Amino acid sequence: VLEIRDLHKAYGQLEVLKGVDLVAERGRVVSLIGSSGSGKSTLLRCANLLEDSQQGEILFEGEAVKWRGAGHNRRPADPAQITRIRTNLSMVFQSFNLWSHMTILQNVMEAPVHVLGRDPAQVEEAARGYLAKVGIGDKCDAWPAQLSGGQQQRAAIARALCMEPKALLFDEPTSALDPELEQEVVRVIKSLAEEGRTMVIVTHDMRLAADVSDHVIFLHKGLVEEEGAPDILFGQPKSERLRGFLSATV
Ligand code: ATP
Ligand code: MG
Repeated sequence: VLEIRDLHKAYGQLEVLKGVDLVAERGRVVSLIGSSGSGKSTLLRCANLLEDSQQGEILFEGEAVKWRGAGHNRRPADPAQITRIRTNLSMVFQSFNLWSHMTILQNVMEAPVHVLGRDPAQVEEAARGYLAKVGIGDKCDAWPAQLSGGQQQRAAIARALCMEPKALLFDEPTSALDPELEQEVVRVIKSLAEEGRTMVIVTHDMRLAADVSDHVIFLHKGLVEEEGAPDILFGQPKSERLRGFLSATV
């Protein structure tokens, strides 16, 4: 679904990604781990073109992003392609950013109806289904402020699902939550993994990464330091840096 090759990204002089590769095949879960500032969020935002990159390729369903310009002037060239990629790689952020003036149901329906132009009645049925699936089917008419953090994040996941994306990108979906609320969200993510959804998950939760991933990538200062199947990466880490990172996080 998503393939990133040799991606480079700098903010001015600061090189944040120095040639990163990532492949998320259909039905697979890839987790990204690494210290604060290693470039995990930047990589996700570059992947769905929320952020420009200066070098390297991004392919969505085998179709390479078309660019114009080069280096710091490089921009995606094809607006229809940008929309296709953004709507098909749905992001779930650390802070749930629900619209506070809309009910939960309206939040979930907003983009499919107003951005994608889908039929409101059909979207409503789907939205209610996704809210039930994440365990908050009874909160359709509540306001975001009336929900717990875990419920808000599950609403944000339902909202991402309602776009019917080809892949979900999670950026630290549990890190703003208390441990007991975190588990509600972890359970939803696990059930999505079991359904065979394609996902890329940035997480500081090594247990989550170990449980749901087919592949784990350890980023260090904008480079892939080590990657592999979770049992091997966590069980027999080769790099000194990864060993240090794991012993500091457990
Ligand atoms: P964390 O675990 O803390 O979320 P991260 O791995 O997600 O870290 P990024 O947010 O990708 O890290 O940031 C990587 C580097 O890029 C950091 O040094 C950060 O300061 C820098 N950076 C991120 N966003 C910007 C920006 N908009 N402008 C300038 N520098 C930025
Ligand atoms: Mg981050």
